Amino acid sequence: HVEDEEEKMSPSKKQVLDHSVKVATHYNQLQEVGLAARSRSRIFFMRNFNNWLKSVLIGEMLEQVRGAGSQQVSVLDLGCGKGGDLLKWRRGGIDHLVCADIAGVSVEQCQIRYDEMKKKSHRNEKIFTAQFITADCSKELLSEKLDDAELMFDICSCQFVYHYSFESEQKANMMLRNACERLKPGGYFIGTTPDAFELVKRLEASDSLSFGKEVFKVTFQSKGSYPLFGCQYHFNLEEVVNVPEFLVYFPLFEHMAKQYNMQLVQKQRFADFFEEKVKKENHRSLMMKMMALEPFPSEDGLQASDSAEEYCHAKEHC
Ligand code: SAM
Repeated sequence: HVEDEEEKMSPSKKQVLDHSVKVATHYNQLQEVGLAARSRSRIFFMRNFNNWLKSVLIGEMLEQVRGAGSQQVSVLDLGCGKGGDLLKWRRGGIDHLVCADIAGVSVEQCQIRYDEMKKKSHRNEKIFTAQFITADCSKELLSEKLDDAELMFDICSCQFVYHYSFESEQKANMMLRNACERLKPGGYFIGTTPDAFELVKRLEASDSLSFGKEVFKVTFQSKGSYPLFGCQYHFNLEEVVNVPEFLVYFPLFEHMAKQYNMQLVQKQRFADFFEEKVKKENHRSLMMKMMALEPFPSEDGLQASDSAEEYCHAKEHC
């Protein structure tokens, strides 16, 4: 039946379908097997850096929300993946989390991780309640899938995800709608996404259609003209990630968000964010802890393969 439907589609619609399927299939199948030790360690340190950055961002956002008087904190993790941020929400002491992702296998793993976390928690610790949703958030309305139809969020966190939706205006709008329409007044939409200006700058400076060296490679289909939506490139990370992504033209994104009464509070590049935050003692010490971890199984048998924080946490309790 699906094939029949596909037959009837115009070529452009077919392409749109292909990309969503490609992204979901890619993340569903993602496994780090057979990589050389060198590659594993490079990816490991990069992932730790990203995790540190997200920890700081999430921690500071939760402080803001609490400072503004929110008692029961609810969060939407839009494009939650395998639940790499679950521990951050646990540390932040939130009350409710909704995890949504297009990749069903990842959502299952996220839920398993959450169940494990709950099982292993200390008797006095109150772990947040959670709902897990498999959905293409650039096509489907999440509010229709919520267990609690009245639920409003203090924060929507969209980490390394929003760029997939910039394939078309329709998709980018739906993703934005999912991120913003259920925010409480004064709520925050936080996220991380590649810097389109930097990508284009590096492409233009390259004498081919790609740039990047050993760890990652970015490949465009053409250069010189960059459509607002659907400007596709391939991001390749040491054989681990190879997936089509789309440039997010930030001024347009900011403009689009105004329809949800959103106002830009802060936008920073990773390097500047790092410079600023690492000056704070607590952030610096977390960074030191995360960077000191070993990418391979250590003597105590713990492997810091997925989330360095989980590893830190496990070690603290050993
Ligand atoms: N946010 C997680 C993190 O920081 O660890 C995962 C980031 S991963 C780079 C990107 C995630 O976006 C994948 O899990 C992918 O399945 C999800 N994704 C991509 N397009 C999506 C869509 N249209 N709807 C929901 N999730 C999507």
